[in-house]
Amino acid sequence: MKTLKIAIQKSGRLNEKSVELLKNCGLNFENYKSSLISPVSNFPLEILFLRDDDIPEYVQDGIADLGIVGENVIQETEVEVSYLQKLGFGKCSLKIAVPNNNTITDINQLNGKAIATTYPVILGKYLKEKGITSDIRTISGSVEISPGLGLSDAICDLVSTGGTLKSNGLMPFADVMSSEAVLIGSKGSEDNHLVQELIQRIQSVLRAKETKYVVLNVERKNLPAVLALLPGVKSPSVVPLAEGDWVAVHTVIPERDFWDRISQLKQAGAQGIVVMPIEKIIL
Ligand code: ATP
Ligand code: ZN
Repeated sequence: MKTLKIAIQKSGRLNEKSVELLKNCGLNFENYKSSLISPVSNFPLEILFLRDDDIPEYVQDGIADLGIVGENVIQETEVEVSYLQKLGFGKCSLKIAVPNNNTITDINQLNGKAIATTYPVILGKYLKEKGITSDIRTISGSVEISPGLGLSDAICDLVSTGGTLKSNGLMPFADVMSSEAVLIGSKGSEDNHLVQELIQRIQSVLRAKETKYVVLNVERKNLPAVLALLPGVKSPSVVPLAEGDWVAVHTVIPERDFWDRISQLKQAGAQGIVVMPIEKIIL
């Protein structure tokens, strides 16, 4: 059986979450900071640790079968790869930002202005779509200081909380793209059964992250009202308790409406609510 290769970021914002995801998929490997390649002992897979900018091309050229990288990097490098799965971490947006004290209020005012960025391809396409001609200044880092140095009128950079913009006297002005980490594969890799197996493991970990396991007690007469509030994977399990009029209900609920659901359940008569994290959900 051919050993697969997956490329992940060696160090930086995506490294830790990428390693955690693969470990949660049950893959056993050493995460030595010094090594470029690490074999997985219980799956025919090797992990390549690379700079994120190099990952799309390695995957396009088939040197790695799979990669975990930000959508922003894929769009910027314009590679031909298959998008296999969004991964829910590394979320950020590519935004145009202008100095706080500027007079720019309309996007068309960027015409003829200098915009510094490390994402000239994505920014170029965006401006073209809007019919705007700006002077795109490609720089390799510290984009946020360029207006202060008089090198540009605006910037186009990745933002997550906006703290870096704020501390440099900049404010977000327009959203160019939103991004998160994704699993990509070489064209055709999706037909490989080992790739399929890995995607399924990843999906079961992601599903589990989005949900909580809930056990609660309820008096039989209140059971219909409680059940009406619960989705469950198929349907909730109802288990009789020693005390005849009471039952225990076991189910999973989505993380996003967790607090709303819990207070509704209490109002409907649920008691002794226990909430637990889930490791995996295999459908
Ligand atoms: P490398 O050394 O691998 O080239 P890098 O410095 O280019 O790393 P990082 O800053 O580690 O990259 O960011 C990696 C990815 O994390 C980005 O491409 C983006 O998809 C994502 N990301 C999430 N939030 C942010 C943010 N606030 N700023 C920059 N990138 C972010
Ligand atoms: Zn990089």
